[in-house]
Amino acid sequence: MQEDQLVLGIDIGGTKTALGVVTRDGRLLDEMVLPSEGVRGKDMLMKRIVSAAGELITGQQFGKRIAAIGVGFPGPISPSNCIVAEAPNLPGWEGVSLCEVLSGALSIPTYGENDANAAALGEWLYGSGRGTRDFIYLTISTGIGCGIISGGRLIQGTSGYSGELGHMIMDPLGPECGCGRRGCLEMLASGTAIGRQARTRLSGGEESVLGELGRPVEDITAREVFEGAAQGDPLSQDILDEALGWIAIGCNNLLVMLNPSRIALGGGVGLGGDWFLEEIEQRLQELSPKDHFGVELVQASLGKNAGIVGAGAVAWLRIDPKLSSEAP
Ligand SMILES: [Zn+2]
Repeated sequence: MQEDQLVLGIDIGGTKTALGVVTRDGRLLDEMVLPSEGVRGKDMLMKRIVSAAGELITGQQFGKRIAAIGVGFPGPISPSNCIVAEAPNLPGWEGVSLCEVLSGALSIPTYGENDANAAALGEWLYGSGRGTRDFIYLTISTGIGCGIISGGRLIQGTSGYSGELGHMIMDPLGPECGCGRRGCLEMLASGTAIGRQARTRLSGGEESVLGELGRPVEDITAREVFEGAAQGDPLSQDILDEALGWIAIGCNNLLVMLNPSRIALGGGVGLGGDWFLEEIEQRLQELSPKDHFGVELVQASLGKNAGIVGAGAVAWLRIDPKLSSEAP
């Protein structure tokens, strides 16, 4: 491997796609963001991604130094052939040979992972997971995703579905999820679920400052619920209380199953602040008063760059597998 090599990270998302050049030590050198929403069809979006990637590669004379491309995708990717198994937020992408199409168009070896796994690898190599061998990254935003590093390796599963914590059934009588199950964690504790709970309860006539914001009930989202809770609104606090309870159960189940030394919380809801983390810790303590197995709960540290740096990490680990054991 040459000293000055770089990789290109591509984080494909339902609303936007970010591309960036990532160094071996996880620095982001150059970045480009494209809207994914409103782009007609997968072929058009792929065309734009290829053209933006080409621009980044040649534009700053990174060309010869880009040794590989890593892609994070919002859905499970088959570990054996990099084919998109499912694409709930990007209709039409099922069955696409993601890596083959990109490497064919750009003539650079390409490796793919679902976005939560990619972000987990990024946090592990360059952020909140550094120095661990058993690390879990949990992202709570519109949905709930999770990436698991166990014994210094990413757990992928047979067909890329490993770490789908968002679809762990918590309440078999709970609301139906898009995945076909009922009462999935993501239906009870994601940002989407928090917003929906608030709208349902407000429509049911419950009193709350959320009803006095001067905006229609259907526009209330998790953001307003967090603000309401901070102002002491009982309805908002009650909704968050319930969501936190479910997340703590999810964390408990992760730690008894995988015995991680650290769990990092990320995503718009997961980064809800120190109090959010403290609350989950407190509940975890109540749920398992005898033993935590020494797990440490922290906030993810790569912030908005987790997706793109994570996609870079996917590529780095493939061209330089030593990196995983080098994590201090
Ligand atoms: Zn589900």
